[in-house]
Amino acid sequence: MEEKDPTIPEGYVRCAPCQSWDWARRAKEVCATCNNSLWVRPPADSLCNLCGGHTRPMGTFNENYPHGLENMKIIGGYESYHLLDMNEYVFSLCEECLRKIFMQCKIPPTVIDRMGRPFDAPPFTFAEDQRAYEYRVWKDNGGHHQAYLNRKCNAIKECPNDAIYTLLHNSTDFTEECLCEEHKDYRYSNSSLVPFIRHELKAFL
Ligand SMILES: [Zn+2]
Ligand SMILES: [Zn+2]
Ligand SMILES: [Zn+2]
Repeated sequence: MEEKDPTIPEGYVRCAPCQSWDWARRAKEVCATCNNSLWVRPPADSLCNLCGGHTRPMGTFNENYPHGLENMKIIGGYESYHLLDMNEYVFSLCEECLRKIFMQCKIPPTVIDRMGRPFDAPPFTFAEDQRAYEYRVWKDNGGHHQAYLNRKCNAIKECPNDAIYTLLHNSTDFTEECLCEEHKDYRYSNSSLVPFIRHELKAFL
C-alpha cells in the first residue's frame, strides 16, 4: 500500500504539472497551477455550480489544468441590485454549461481564432464556431459514420447530397471522409480525393 506523504496537507494532492521541476527552475519560474505551493486540490474536486459535473477533462493529463471558469469571484457594489452589496459570490462553470449560456446570448460572444488566420480574413463568428461544435458532436455521436454507410457526404453535418469522393489521408490512407461535389474543397492539404469507396469494398484496399 502506498504510504501517505506526511508533508501533503489534508485534502490536497501533489501538483502534477510542476512535479518534475528542480529547485533551480522553481527559483526562476512560478507554476501557474499551484503558484509554487506544490499542493493543489484534487482535480475531481473542481465542480460546475450549474450542472454539478466536473469542470476538468477527468482521466487525461489536462485534468491538472483549469477548464471553463473555475473559482470566479464577483462582488456586488453599492449600486448593485441583483447581486447584494459587499457579498462575494464564488462559482465555477464547466465548458458545456458555458456553451449553453453562449447559445442563449442575445449578443453572441466574440470569437477569436487563435490558430492563426490571415490578417485580412473576415472575423470568425460565434455562429461559425457553433457550427463547428455541432459538427464535432454529430461526428462523435456516430452521424458522420452513418452518413458514410448511407453514401451521403459527411463534410458538413447532415449534407443531403450523395458522396462522390472518398478522401485519402497522406494520399494513401483510407478515411471515412466522403464529399459531395459542392463540398469537395472541405479537406486538408495532405489529402487527396478518389472516387467514392463503399464500405463493402474498403476491406479490399
Ligand atoms: Zn505546480
Ligand atoms: Zn456545468
Ligand atoms: Zn456535401
